[in-house]
Amino acid sequence: MKKVEVPFVYSPLYSQLDLPPRHRYPIEKYRLLKDWALKHGAKASQWYTPEPVNWEQVARTHCTDYLTRLSTNSLDKVAWRRIGFPWSEQLLQRTLTSAGGTLRTMELALTHRVAIHFSGGYHHAHKDWGSGFCLLNDLAIACNEILRKYPHLKVAVLDTDVHQGDGTATLFEKDSRVFTCSLHGERNFPFSKVKSDLDRPLSKNTSDREYLSALGEVLTFIRKEVKPDIILYDAGVDIYQRDELGHLNISLAGIFQRDFSVLSFAKQHEIPLAAVIGGGYQRNLTRLIRAHAQLLRAGYYVYTDDNQEKEA
Ligand SMILES: [Zn+2]
Repeated sequence: MKKVEVPFVYSPLYSQLDLPPRHRYPIEKYRLLKDWALKHGAKASQWYTPEPVNWEQVARTHCTDYLTRLSTNSLDKVAWRRIGFPWSEQLLQRTLTSAGGTLRTMELALTHRVAIHFSGGYHHAHKDWGSGFCLLNDLAIACNEILRKYPHLKVAVLDTDVHQGDGTATLFEKDSRVFTCSLHGERNFPFSKVKSDLDRPLSKNTSDREYLSALGEVLTFIRKEVKPDIILYDAGVDIYQRDELGHLNISLAGIFQRDFSVLSFAKQHEIPLAAVIGGGYQRNLTRLIRAHAQLLRAGYYVYTDDNQEKEA
């Protein structure tokens, strides 16, 4: 089997957003994760810079009235409070670029078997409203654009961020081409859950062993019942025991095991895999980056395995 250099999709815009002092969103994490990758041997040839999606593309997923209000800053205060960011031109550009990044990551996964987006996972954005730091649902926008280009694909969205992927589940509720699956804390935001095609709610303080066993069952279901042509994987690290918004008890080694299991599964069954880094909330950015870096480590171990190459 040919050795693969995992493509990384990144834009400097991801960390360029002026936020009020003490805002809890770790906006620096994107740039710091890129720095981590460079420090740990990422090559120049691995990097791809995404283009923003245009409003016409976004309108295939979201309702036009919402988009007009978003672009002209005419959503009301309640709507902005639910989103959790103040309006700015930077915020719009960053959001459109992040959606373009997830789309690019899916395209790269189809040609390279795997790709990792250093942003993405804005899964709380619904058709006509945003919430929980999510304005536009990059996962849904990317899936819809990929399906326009490749209408016969079956897509599985595997969302392992600690928060339920409620926006994605609702947006694809009636679309059999996209299978939505969410493993999440049952007592965490969003407090009123919606129905994904497959939900796996987890109780507070879920351990590594319980978590990985639940994940194994989900992967088996996906292999037997869904048989996807591509997996869009949300690798949120707010499942971490030290996360400030998660309530699970997953260790750093547990995060690596999760990412390693998902990537190995995709490689073994020859399913292209596009990963986004998703959520992760810690004031200690060094610790946060270490958690997100587990996905990059798993990508390296699974897809650049020299032994596999010798066997081929
Ligand atoms: Zn989350």
